[in-house]
Amino acid sequence: MASHSPRVLSGLALNELIDELKGLPAPLPPFRSKQIFKWIARGAVSFEEMTDLDKALREDLGSRFLLRSTRVSSQLEDGDGTVKLQIDLFDGARIEAVLLSDAEERKTACISTQAGCPAGCVFCKTGSLGFSRNLDSAEIAEQFLHLKALAARNSPGAASGETGIANIVIMGMGEPLLNLAELRRALSFFFDAEGLGISRRRITLSTSGVIPGIRDLADNGPHIRLACSLTSAREELRNRLMPLAASNPLPQLKAALGYYQQKSGQRITLEAVLLGGINTGREDAAAMAGFAKGLDAVINLIPWNPVEGLQFEGAPLREPSRAELEGFAALLEKSGLKVTRRYRKGRGVAGACGQLGVVGKKDS
Ligand code: SF4
Repeated sequence: MASHSPRVLSGLALNELIDELKGLPAPLPPFRSKQIFKWIARGAVSFEEMTDLDKALREDLGSRFLLRSTRVSSQLEDGDGTVKLQIDLFDGARIEAVLLSDAEERKTACISTQAGCPAGCVFCKTGSLGFSRNLDSAEIAEQFLHLKALAARNSPGAASGETGIANIVIMGMGEPLLNLAELRRALSFFFDAEGLGISRRRITLSTSGVIPGIRDLADNGPHIRLACSLTSAREELRNRLMPLAASNPLPQLKAALGYYQQKSGQRITLEAVLLGGINTGREDAAAMAGFAKGLDAVINLIPWNPVEGLQFEGAPLREPSRAELEGFAALLEKSGLKVTRRYRKGRGVAGACGQLGVVGKKDS
């Protein structure tokens, strides 16, 4: 993990911040740390904004700490209301975070947990970039703070909760369960009632199916909503589409998802990125229905969002036709499964699912 100097305060849980500020030559009492924590959660970018601290303290803190470690380098807006932020990290790595709006103007923040991704899913731009490094808790938390500021600028006075953002989805760049320790710290920052006070039920983590991570989350929490990207329930095809799947076999994956369900008491989502001509056939639907049997699951179908240059075994990938999508959905529904289709958002700025890592605004 790369480290910052001076120390960055964003993304610290309140107890961590209290400990940090207790260690100063003139230790701060917990109530002062709590004031500072509230300012950070509110989105303060400088100690000068913390007007309930005296000037000398603000200057002292400013000489010792940073409030933020990341910087928004560009903002790309799609006509459908999606906004993608490109965010520079202190060591030159770049990540992306996305603000989505639904038909009711409810906003969802999509955040990243790694720079690049080691999972290598063939249909995903991030996967094609390779892996740079894990993000630390500040870098994860700051994405939300940047998106929250953006949401406030775009709809001042909008009343959809204190943050202006209804949900957080951990579905951006990276495999979140391969960076669970830092993600947990960022989640503690999100949850704290002294700060953002975001409910666990409003946060969804999407994994490509990392079994040890699912079991760790089941045993040690937090029990946020879980989505698992299955894409194919035919083991051999899944391993070719999602190389990390080879170390997370389907029977054990199903057992781990059942265990999470049992521990958390929650319905889970199984996601399938539909690739035209590859995983949309009758046998694919039958395998998926078989996998879902016995789980309390919703199946979310995601028609592949085009990324130039991505191929599967030498042939360019293509979007599923409407007939493929609806035919696949109908077969699952016939098996008694609840099926949803993910609304295509953010394609104009390459901010849709599987497109993150594309630099620049597309022409169409
Ligand atoms: S789909 Fe998710 S897990 Fe797979 S390569 Fe892309 S970011 Fe990584």
